[in-house]
Amino acid sequence: MEIANQCEPTPLPERPRMDADIVCVGFGPATAGFLWTLSHQLTNPDGTPAFESAAAPGSPLQVLCYERADDVGFGVSGVVTKARALRSSIPNLDTAGIPMSVPVSQEQVLYLLDPIGASRRTMSLQTIDSFIQALKGVLPFEHDAVTLPWTPQFLLKHGGMVFSMGQFMQWVGAQVQSTGTVQIWPGTPVAQAIIDDQRVLGVRLVDQGVDKTGEPADGFTPGMDIHAALTVVGDGPVGTVGRQLDALFGLPEQHHTRDWAVGMKFVVDLPGDTSLKPGTVLHTFGYPEPEIFGFLYVHPDRVASLGIFVPSWFDSPVRTAYRYLQHWMLHPYWWRFLKGSKLRSWGAKTLGESGRRGEPHLVGDGYARIGEGSGSTNVLTGSGVDEGWATGTQLAEAVLELLREKRPFTKENLGKTYIQRRRASWLEQESLVAEKARDGFQYGVIAGMLGMALADLSGGHLAIPGQRRRPWERIPSLEEYYQGRIPRAEVQRIRDECYGRNVSAHAALMERAGWPAIPYDGQLLVSHQDALLLGGKVQAPAGYADHVAFTFPHLCERCGTKLCVELCSGQAITPGENGVPNFDREKCVHCGACLWNCASASPENPERAAIVFSAGTGGLHSVEN
Ligand SMILES: Cc1cc2nc3c(=O)[nH]c(=O)nc-3n(C[C@H](O)[C@H](O)[C@H](O)COP(=O)(O)OP(=O)(O)OC[C@H]3O[C@@H](n4cnc5c(N)ncnc54)[C@H](O)[C@@H]3O)c2cc1C
Ligand code: SF4
Ligand code: SF4
Repeated sequence: MEIANQCEPTPLPERPRMDADIVCVGFGPATAGFLWTLSHQLTNPDGTPAFESAAAPGSPLQVLCYERADDVGFGVSGVVTKARALRSSIPNLDTAGIPMSVPVSQEQVLYLLDPIGASRRTMSLQTIDSFIQALKGVLPFEHDAVTLPWTPQFLLKHGGMVFSMGQFMQWVGAQVQSTGTVQIWPGTPVAQAIIDDQRVLGVRLVDQGVDKTGEPADGFTPGMDIHAALTVVGDGPVGTVGRQLDALFGLPEQHHTRDWAVGMKFVVDLPGDTSLKPGTVLHTFGYPEPEIFGFLYVHPDRVASLGIFVPSWFDSPVRTAYRYLQHWMLHPYWWRFLKGSKLRSWGAKTLGESGRRGEPHLVGDGYARIGEGSGSTNVLTGSGVDEGWATGTQLAEAVLELLREKRPFTKENLGKTYIQRRRASWLEQESLVAEKARDGFQYGVIAGMLGMALADLSGGHLAIPGQRRRPWERIPSLEEYYQGRIPRAEVQRIRDECYGRNVSAHAALMERAGWPAIPYDGQLLVSHQDALLLGGKVQAPAGYADHVAFTFPHLCERCGTKLCVELCSGQAITPGENGVPNFDREKCVHCGACLWNCASASPENPERAAIVFSAGTGGLHSVEN
């Protein structure tokens, strides 16, 4: 009898391979626009396939889309849109047929004053606040807020709709798949593009049955390789494949992706007697910190989406979106509407705010980039859904043209069809107007707002210039940030005490600096931990590698400003032992903010942080967000 050598390693299974014609990474609005346009033209009027597959001769074109999140519409965000591109693709788009959708009815912008005196306001802002207080009798002032007498044209979404991007994506996903011409696979993260000599050959899916570090474990199944003539990269602002291509091909000269924001959103049931009307769109600035923007949009049936954006130019080492959102809700202007509301679901997501300036090389041999990761988001209007969708439709038209003419998906051919369409469209004109609009924010909120107005009025010709700095070049230490408010030794004591308990320090520091404790009500105001259980739920399937890793422990060990810990949207990153943070996948909501919120640069890439954020499964899931 032959006895197996116990020490001999079990050979790893071979990596399976599949061939398709087109493979898409991510199912956000950009890919949805692509697949909508493509799928509706893959069948002839007589029901026969319009194109034959080159990958599987004799079969129709094989089009696959892999989405990281557990279900369609679980990895996206977006609430109000002009819907120009959407309506151009779907002329009979009826908001009545899509849950949570309603036409925009009224829009206002509000400046929120600080009713408790805890925010950090510059002298000029304090002067403006005093001026407003002195004139409040004649201004549209109520509950510590001034309604701007007009809403800037660029912000108006009149004619558009308030909706839930997740619900809309589920609707689109079902429509697209019902054509029978494309397949969408949720819960299937793409690990990387397969690249051979500058040509993208397809994608590799993530390995399963691995330990947290990615090493093969029980039930190891290597991720499949999907080879395709065209890889469509629509993986959003922090996509792994997009970043892989950026690292390989670089960005066009003068381009960068240094501007970001983390958006956190709550979906709430408003009280039964709410006076807020469906279709209401309200934007705020000024509070809880001047740099933080807020929004509240009202859906039908007393449901509202509300949230804040914490931008990369907010120079605070305690830039926690969750805590700041609670203070925003407690502002007297909002609290009279929100008291008695109930949290239905919540989520957080990174918004790429470099816009046109963050545009990468849009095409190459075998690939094309669409959506926010391709620089389509308009940083003046703060709108990315319609723009992302538009890039997808432009690529689909280009692809159909190439398929009809039997021309390959080369860099040159994609340039002449896709890029040409994009450059000739409203998207390009508007993104050029917006390109420098936010530069002024490098000098604070007043300069930023003036810069936006200037860019709008001058059609993008004038702007307040500003040099972008990366987080590790601009974030002060905790001691510096609280200078004049909390003695240095006390900051250190609070931090040491919190980190000793393996919790973030922002709550203790904020409260010591004057922010009141949150009066938890168990409905809307709940602890961060309870929110992870209450509004949506985190799903982190076993057998996958951690998608957040600290690969330069020596940098973490000497990092006193643990930005990653303080800002983490799910409390998934904790201080850890010996200075190297811990990551708990069970709490990660996949906002992607740790990718750009780190106090150190990567020793391997000065544009990137010393933290690894790769493709992964899981996240805080609710289709409403
Ligand atoms: C809180 C918040 C509110 C917003 N509100 C609005 C708004 O009201 N109006 C508006 O116009 N815009 C809004 N935006 C911006 C808008 O959501 C984005 O501009 C838009 O979603 C970009 O679309 P996209 O398809 O390019 O990328 P995304 O929507 O980011 O979609 C990318 C998809 O790719 C998936 N993915 C990523 N990596 C992988 C991988 N490796 N493998 C498989 N799948 C992957 C992701 O899970 C995701 O589903 C908001 C953004 C945020 C964060
Ligand atoms: S990941 Fe970055 S911010 Fe976090 S501890 Fe390490 S160096 Fe500091
Ligand atoms: S660990 Fe997860 S929840 Fe925390 S910042 Fe990173 S992506 Fe967001």
